[in-house]
Amino acid sequence: MIEVKTDTIVKHYKNQKIKIERKVLEISKSEILHFLNKEEFNSNCRNACPNHNRKWTCPPNCPNFEDYSESYSKIQLFLFVTSTKQFDFLPEEECSLEAYNFTKEELQSYLRINEPVDGKMIAANSCEICTTCSIIKGKSCYFPVKMRYNLVAFGFNVGKILTDLFKHELKWAAKNIIPEYVSSVGAILKK
Ligand code: SF4
Repeated sequence: MIEVKTDTIVKHYKNQKIKIERKVLEISKSEILHFLNKEEFNSNCRNACPNHNRKWTCPPNCPNFEDYSESYSKIQLFLFVTSTKQFDFLPEEECSLEAYNFTKEELQSYLRINEPVDGKMIAANSCEICTTCSIIKGKSCYFPVKMRYNLVAFGFNVGKILTDLFKHELKWAAKNIIPEYVSSVGAILKK
């Protein structure tokens, strides 16, 4: 039985207090490999994402997860969930995206701060360190020590990780529909 630790953290956005539900679990690296399907999930990136082949952290430039994680034995997964009701002071059309970006940025900062010296963060999204990734100019990554890959780019089925391990369902925004909550997930590889 996998133990999911849950607590609530309070952050600020435009002078408002925003509560984020933080869920954390740790499994062996071999257990996360069941959720890896690089061929299927990288093809989704290829067919639908404007970042495909436009960032060093995105397919087809992302390394194989098995190679990248070779020296690590455990993975700690972090899920941040934020109720969108807390953003109802914003215009309705901005609510979902602002809530999602806020949650993703908070998780990203949290992972960076908590990355151990002998561990490796797996980011909540594709690299956003530079306004335009150096790959566009055919150059090597400007910040190779700081850049981090993400679960989607490695080819993980993130939706299934959330339902099977966290018992958490993703909710999607749609035209005129604000989801009840937004979710962001990242990880830290550990020795
Ligand atoms: S650090 Fe800059 S150059 Fe490197 S992957 Fe990220 S955006 Fe691209």
